[in-house]
Amino acid sequence: MITKTLFDLNSLLRPNIKQLVPYSSARDEFKGKEGIFLDANENSFGSPLSENYNRYPDPLQLGLKEKIGKVKGLPTENIFLGNGSDEAIDILFRAFCIPGKDKVIICPPTYGMYEVSANINDVEVKKVNLLPESFQLNSDKIIEAIDNKTKLIFVCCPNNPTGNGVKWLDIKLILESFKGIVILDEAYINFASYRSLIPELLNYPNLVILQTFSKAWGLAGLRIGMAFASQQIIDVFNKIKPPYNINALSQQKAIAALSNIEQVNVWIKTIVAERELLIKKLGLLSCVIKVYPSEANFVLVKVTDANELYTYLSRQQLVVRNRSKVELCEGCLRITIGTKEENEKLITAIKQYADQ
Ligand code: PMP
Repeated sequence: MITKTLFDLNSLLRPNIKQLVPYSSARDEFKGKEGIFLDANENSFGSPLSENYNRYPDPLQLGLKEKIGKVKGLPTENIFLGNGSDEAIDILFRAFCIPGKDKVIICPPTYGMYEVSANINDVEVKKVNLLPESFQLNSDKIIEAIDNKTKLIFVCCPNNPTGNGVKWLDIKLILESFKGIVILDEAYINFASYRSLIPELLNYPNLVILQTFSKAWGLAGLRIGMAFASQQIIDVFNKIKPPYNINALSQQKAIAALSNIEQVNVWIKTIVAERELLIKKLGLLSCVIKVYPSEANFVLVKVTDANELYTYLSRQQLVVRNRSKVELCEGCLRITIGTKEENEKLITAIKQYADQ
């Protein structure tokens, strides 16, 4: 087991990051103080808008982190905010993986950015597929695939595009067998029947949990992703990130949204209910071979001819995601849960396709 004393973050870090002197922004030094600010070359007169955005935003987004911390039960020191969770994924590669030398493990079919980010950073990807049909982790194979160049293992739960949750026992086994960092991507956690593994951060110093404002929170346009981890790891994120990676408007809007958590909770309940209804209705259609169970705000559906149905729906301006070329998802479409009316339109269209 990788206990706190055995975990050595320093030995995982890229040497250039260990030695890096981070950029110190003007606002870092005079945070929260009153004064005449002539230190950051801003426009001192204001903005040509009804609200002023002439000042750089808080580089550490403390106001927003305090609000998030209350919801998640975490101190601000354990929270990193990125320009979407995609930024957090990219920072993990830049912090821990030496290009052309280190490796990561991913478990396809899964979220595409892990591999894209690895490729951008010239980091080798070892793929250990999920088990067919159940889409559970093949934890024995994952552990076998680890070598002394493996720095990161990505686990997505609930997984995109399959929609299922993976077993805690498998995640635990990986956490306890690996000296590197395990990233648990909980982008869709709010739609799941189980709880976030945030409390496990106290037990596993090598765990990083990703969440986002893009899904249940309905704020994909603001681009705010969250990473939760030990202070030691969050400090590394902060050292690497661009100084003002979350703009002032996004920070303000997210703070306002956090005061309206009741609305989000109502939507989550509605989306989950609509998901179950959609699964039931899809299951009755003759062109549907299988609807996979889902813990997310989408469903993966195996159909008789995915390309044909995809094209049929597109012609009616019903846009779903064709995953039929993805290994283990052959013949599948991924469908996001829409509003009641949108889901009804979708079902009507698929029925028409099946009956023609
Ligand atoms: N993780 C998963 C599993 C996702 O599906 C997505 C987006 N589709 C992301 C992360 C990225 O989210 P963000 O908008 O926060 O960059």
